[in-house]
Amino acid sequence: MPPDLSGKNGLVVGIANDRSIAFGCAAAFRAAGADLAVTYLNDKARAHVQPLAEALEAELFLPCDVREPGQVRQLFARLGQSWGRLDFLLHSVAFAPREDLHGRVTDCSREGFDMAMNVSCHSFIRMARHAEPLMTDGGALMTMSYYGAEKVVDNYNLMGPVKAALEASVRYMAAELGPGNIRVYAISPGPLKTRAASGIDRFDELMERAAAKAPRHALVTIEQIGGVAAFLASDQADGMTGNVVYVDNGANIVD
Ligand code: NAD
Repeated sequence: MPPDLSGKNGLVVGIANDRSIAFGCAAAFRAAGADLAVTYLNDKARAHVQPLAEALEAELFLPCDVREPGQVRQLFARLGQSWGRLDFLLHSVAFAPREDLHGRVTDCSREGFDMAMNVSCHSFIRMARHAEPLMTDGGALMTMSYYGAEKVVDNYNLMGPVKAALEASVRYMAAELGPGNIRVYAISPGPLKTRAASGIDRFDELMERAAAKAPRHALVTIEQIGGVAAFLASDQADGMTGNVVYVDNGANIVD
């Protein structure tokens, strides 16, 4: 049976365009019957995201730049006013300054490290904190990680330690929020060509290696990732929390 999200309210943060992982997830949530709130980064991004939010029949379309003080709080205040209850949240957001991302971890600047951690990791923690009082019937919090959290991947550099912190945060928050029936997951997709991925040096080679290594010899699609996210958001995933869920055609099992 496909996951049923009818009657559930979900927030999706991280749609930049129709190739965004967050868009694949949002489409799967909507197909499963969820009502959605979708965010856009800023006025420049709004024009690209608005038609997608309309296609998703999003009930709420709100700004969210996690670097802007107060914007995450305002976002959740709006969700509280409009819905009063939130059932799931997808955080699909990452950023690191180019010069730090392209250098060695050993050489990264404190400012670059702070920025990458704030946008890519602590923003998920902040969202969880604001979501908790709205998840009165329990819920699911999901974020996007990558295999570079666990093993050294050429050119992933600074995002490796950042995703490692994100995955550890998922485990701690799963333990803390479990008694309130709030489940927490990191989804770890294999590489796919998106705007964020284009910031990583020699990304085409990384994709080629991933496809060659994966038992299924293929790259994943945003539709496949969306299918897993919809399952995790649903009551069918009730028995799981704190997991890093790989959606990589099995590449992570191969040395
Ligand atoms: P994407 O560029 O489509 O999405 C990244 C999103 O982050 C964008 O919507 C962007 O607006 C948002 N963002 C950046 N800074 C922000 C800020 N300050 N406030 C709010 N939002 C901000 O690329 P994507 O590949 O879909 O990335 C989504 C997530 O998936 C990221 O966490 C990324 O690390 C992760 N991921 C990507 C891949 C891949 O190969 N593409 C693989 C594994 C994990």
